[in-house]
Amino acid sequence: MTHRITLLPGDGIGPEVTEATVQVLEAAGVEVDWDRHRVIGQTAVERGRPALPPDVIDSLHETGVALKGPVTTPVGQGFTSVNVQLRQRLDLYANVRPCTVLPGIETPFANTDLIIFRENTEGLYSGIEHYDERLEIADSIARVSKRGSERIVRFAFEYARREGRERVTLAHKANILKKSSGLFLDVGREVAAEYPEIEFEDRIIDALCMQLVMNPEEFDCIVSTNLFGDILSDIAAGLVGGLGVTAGANIGDDCAVFEAVHGSAPDIAGQNVANPTALILSAVMMLRHLGEDTAARAIQEALRDQYREQTALTPDVGGEASTAAFADALSDRVADRVAG
Ligand code: NAD
Repeated sequence: MTHRITLLPGDGIGPEVTEATVQVLEAAGVEVDWDRHRVIGQTAVERGRPALPPDVIDSLHETGVALKGPVTTPVGQGFTSVNVQLRQRLDLYANVRPCTVLPGIETPFANTDLIIFRENTEGLYSGIEHYDERLEIADSIARVSKRGSERIVRFAFEYARREGRERVTLAHKANILKKSSGLFLDVGREVAAEYPEIEFEDRIIDALCMQLVMNPEEFDCIVSTNLFGDILSDIAAGLVGGLGVTAGANIGDDCAVFEAVHGSAPDIAGQNVANPTALILSAVMMLRHLGEDTAARAIQEALRDQYREQTALTPDVGGEASTAAFADALSDRVADRVAG
């Protein structure tokens, strides 16, 4: 069956890692009719268009699935993050970030195997901000709703149940943020009671951060509000080898956007050295979402072999290969597996 998928290469290293990922999917024999949209973010603004052009949203409404490269967001000024807009406009409330160590990656935390579930549409990223020029005071509102909390915690428990995971840890700051974080914790406890077979615990975010870098193997699934979840996922990415190898998905009831945790990496853009692994692993999540389990397994196992044998790896994980050389080597492995 041919899948129609929206393709958003993004900017910075986005087009390089996206091209590599598309090549690997082709090698796996997955038939895709890509609906490509290259004009997004700064590129769109320079052409007098909105940073998130309406045709991108229309495409996603039609296909329901996107593979997305990173998009640069101007700091402190300029347009609202395309990523945040996409998540809010399409109500992609669940950000899922699995963090597992690939073979051959040097890390003191080889047994890390956890999944972060981050609420994606509200909290401190609600976009409710105000600057009072007279008093020179800025406010950013961390809006937390009962519905928003319930659906992300339920999503985490359903995922844990489906994947045979044992424990869900809820990260919060309810000792200080008694209303917003307090609501998230209360709702979390209520939802957890419906899943007695899965262990539930809650931790205060700062203590959790310390425990996460000292004993990451103690954690299984972690669910949190938007900002805490964002920071936790980068910590967890660091534990398993860095941003180059950490995948992600933004999932709603009607649409899903699969993208790496990393950004557009302007420091290495255009140099053909970016690691496409994170986007390739995001594409593996996409294939599972689409029911293409055989292709997903072929790519994941070929990737593990490539890391285990330390062939054609990119500089961020200790190799010397280019993005294109990594993709060529992996595509050959995937094609061999599919043929065999
Ligand atoms: P970043 O993730 O782009 O880069 C952080 C560091 O990690 C850099 O040194 C970079 O070279 C390295 N890195 C990242 N991905 C890599 C890869 N695949 N291979 C090898 N090295 C890699 O974070 P940043 O510099 O804070 O952000 C740059 C821009 O990206 C910002 O405008 C930010 O807003 C945007 N951003 C976009 C997304 C998204 O589109 N989903 C996510 C995060 C950041």
